[in-house]
Amino acid sequence: MTSWKKYERFVAELCSEDYQSPSVTVMPNAKINGCLSQTTRQVDVLIDSRFGDDRNRRIIVDAKKYNRPLNVKDVESFHGMMIDCSSKAGILVCPNGYSTAAKKRAQDFINLKIVSLEELENIDLELWDDCLSDNCDERAERGLVLWDAPMGIGFTASPVSISSIGKCDVCGEFHIWCWDCGKKFSLSNESAAQCNCEHSWFWLTAIEGDEVSLNDHQQSESVYLLLVTPIDALIADRKPFVHFPYAETV
Ligand SMILES: [Zn+2]
Ligand SMILES: [Zn+2]
Repeated sequence: MTSWKKYERFVAELCSEDYQSPSVTVMPNAKINGCLSQTTRQVDVLIDSRFGDDRNRRIIVDAKKYNRPLNVKDVESFHGMMIDCSSKAGILVCPNGYSTAAKKRAQDFINLKIVSLEELENIDLELWDDCLSDNCDERAERGLVLWDAPMGIGFTASPVSISSIGKCDVCGEFHIWCWDCGKKFSLSNESAAQCNCEHSWFWLTAIEGDEVSLNDHQQSESVYLLLVTPIDALIADRKPFVHFPYAETV
């Protein structure tokens, strides 16, 4: 793995620790439909609302592994990307600091965060599972799954089962890890799956329209991961649905 890729993955891990909350989802190497550019924007880490398309909660993170400090132009181009990604807040991560002008330009809505390369030594890649999807991009290195904190599933006061939800940092597919039987599996968009336990629930992915439209031409959509129980379908996670999968980011 290149040190650059490792840096990005380390930053994703840090974000997932910093933003661990049931209402927020953290996605490594996310793809977002650019509302202005109408092309696919690659985002190193997307911190987004988990239960619905609340853009006010969206934060995009870009890791700039430059040997020099960040300058005002770096911040300005990142600000442009934030606007295209409908994100009101952003985090620029860099190993070698930033100029005074860059800091001023960042104002309050862009957080400049220094993560040194030495910190890469602390990363334990063994904790990241290989993607289990057949759809993972084989042209590149197979992706790694970033797991959320484990969650309890139960319909009474105490949880009866523990599972983790994850997302692949290459293909973006949802993954489930059932702690009861140990089974890990991936779910492509619009599919259903279950672990080896005889639970009364199963997992389902569905594409739903958002309340906010992407632009004048296109409705924005999300892929939801649902936990379907005998009485209800509960939202467990969400990710943006990419409309322009073949468009290149320029
Ligand atoms: Zn994958
Ligand atoms: Zn199970």
